[in-house]
Amino acid sequence: MNKEKRAEIFRRFKLANPQPRTELAYETPFELLIAVMLSAQATDVSVNKATARLFPIANTPQGLLDLGVDGITPFIRTIGLFNAKARNVIDTCRILCEQHDSSVPNTRESLEALPGVGRKTANVVLNTAFGQPAMAVDTHIFRVANRTGIATGKNVLEVERRLLRLVPAEYLLNAHHWLLLHGRYVCQARKPDCPNCLISDLCEFRTKTPVPGKPDGQSAKASRTAGDDTPGGPPGRDPDGNTAGKGAREDAGKSGKGTSSRTRLRARRTAAGHSASGKNGNA
Ligand code: SF4
Repeated sequence: MNKEKRAEIFRRFKLANPQPRTELAYETPFELLIAVMLSAQATDVSVNKATARLFPIANTPQGLLDLGVDGITPFIRTIGLFNAKARNVIDTCRILCEQHDSSVPNTRESLEALPGVGRKTANVVLNTAFGQPAMAVDTHIFRVANRTGIATGKNVLEVERRLLRLVPAEYLLNAHHWLLLHGRYVCQARKPDCPNCLISDLCEFRTKTPVPGKPDGQSAKASRTAGDDTPGGPPGRDPDGNTAGKGAREDAGKSGKGTSSRTRLRARRTAAGHSASGKNGNA
């Protein structure tokens, strides 16, 4: 993809949604860190439900440390891997209290030294809480970057590095959210909503979903496997190792009804800049 096309894609994303937000609810960097830690292999909706009950009880490192693993487990029991996450949260809180004056550090090195905090979580916190142009490449961003041709790569690190190099500087700060929301609601794994995609004429995906009633010789079936557009990746698997089916189920979990009419409505709203926001409206 040439740089003019790439710039036009982000110009449109910005026009449609000038201030994209994470869908995780949070009010402080610490709440964001905890929410992102809990969100691994879980939906934002499920995390928001848990933190809506947990944070009013305790939303500081010392507060959660006082609750302990047994104290926070009942709040996060509905989230996958809750036992391991509870332990990581408490261990992280202890380190924040002992080594960081109960604050969330704003460097990658310090963040990744925290239990349960990997590169992706660190990138989300650096970008969303501290305004750094970091790129947290998840399964959605990996898929969109590869399908469109914005930044192709065999693995998430490759795509992350290319995005940081190729996305025009003026769009770098928000690129992560635009790409994620586009992948979650429009360019979905199983059946991308190409007919309603605002960058369809710029996207270089070879097997776009045809406009209903106007077959273009390429069936949407051809794009049903997320791995189709994953260079070098095994067919049907995304960068997190999920199968296409699992990716689709994840999408379904985010929107509640998969590729239903409700999802399609949401896709159009997202394209128009009405994405759901956090509880404080500035997440
Ligand atoms: S045209 Fe289709 S494949 Fe390309 S970004 Fe849009 S939804 Fe995704």
